[in-house]
Amino acid sequence: MVSGRTVVMRSGARSVRVRAPGKINVSLQVGPPREDGYHGIASVFLAVSLYEEVTATETPGDGISVTVNGKGMLNLPADTIPLDRTNLAVRAAELLAEVSPGRTGVHLDITKRVPISGGMGGGSADAAAALLACDALWGSGFSRDELAKIAIDLGADVPFALVGGTAVGLGVGDQLTPAISKTPLHWVLVTSAYGLSTPEVYRTLDAIRLRDGVEPDAQPEIDPAILGAMRAGDALGLAPLLHNDLQQASLELAPALGDILDTGKAFGALAGIVSGSGPTIAFLARSSGHAAELEALLDTEGLQAASVHGPAHGARIATDFAG
Ligand code: ATP
Repeated sequence: MVSGRTVVMRSGARSVRVRAPGKINVSLQVGPPREDGYHGIASVFLAVSLYEEVTATETPGDGISVTVNGKGMLNLPADTIPLDRTNLAVRAAELLAEVSPGRTGVHLDITKRVPISGGMGGGSADAAAALLACDALWGSGFSRDELAKIAIDLGADVPFALVGGTAVGLGVGDQLTPAISKTPLHWVLVTSAYGLSTPEVYRTLDAIRLRDGVEPDAQPEIDPAILGAMRAGDALGLAPLLHNDLQQASLELAPALGDILDTGKAFGALAGIVSGSGPTIAFLARSSGHAAELEALLDTEGLQAASVHGPAHGARIATDFAG
């Protein structure tokens, strides 16, 4: 039975299911390491139509448990995700429970579609989905802004998974300003059957810069032309502006990514870029038809490819819940 935003299962337990998107960084500039070990960044985040799903179901007592399964083009088995308190969705539920008088026990069932350790913020999407699902289940009644403040403690990418769309991220990526971009852009994602550790990619970038004598700006800034092209939905104009400071480091750690970038460009992609810390690669297409063509061509090379579009919505309660 559906009642408001929750569903009552056959067992009588109440349940809420939330979808939250993965992201690509259309542009990512990285500053030098700060004293706290983080790096200042300037990034244009784009939420894409590849969603994680978290179903939160009330359980007796006050425990928090989790199960994880994988769907679609997941790069690694879902059982590589921890099921203890280090799981970001569990940490999200714990943080929300601390400030929710109506809290109950909860079981979180995660369906992963976003590549794991793939540079697309999948774990952050799980955390954002768990925050929204538990808020609805427990009647906590927090606004999006209040949830975003809680989200910052879970990771720099979690606030963006809550809001979705297109946004400029400054600071460590947590200072978000929504940007207008209504016309969808079409992309083809290519996953690799491994993950890259985000901290290791940042450390590699620092080592490359030291080696090459490069001194980055302490707080990099966004090129306004990128936002102009996104506002206009101008894929051709955006193509030469895609930029990722982490790309060289990802390529040093995983040289095979260079071949994938070359293959996509040879098949007619407008441009290709490593997404965040990688290893997922995002190719920009002219249209949905062009993306479908490119996906089929990449498939013939034995690559794991999927077409997506963005901007996609942020964490949202699913209303098509069958029970
Ligand atoms: P980042 O957000 O750091 O760029 P990423 O997008 O490359 O990371 P994620 O899939 O978010 O990659 O995973 C990063 C790490 O977080 C992995 O080591 C993973 O095991 C761990 N992790 C913890 N909880 C989760 C979760 N619910 N889903 C995915 N990964 C999780």
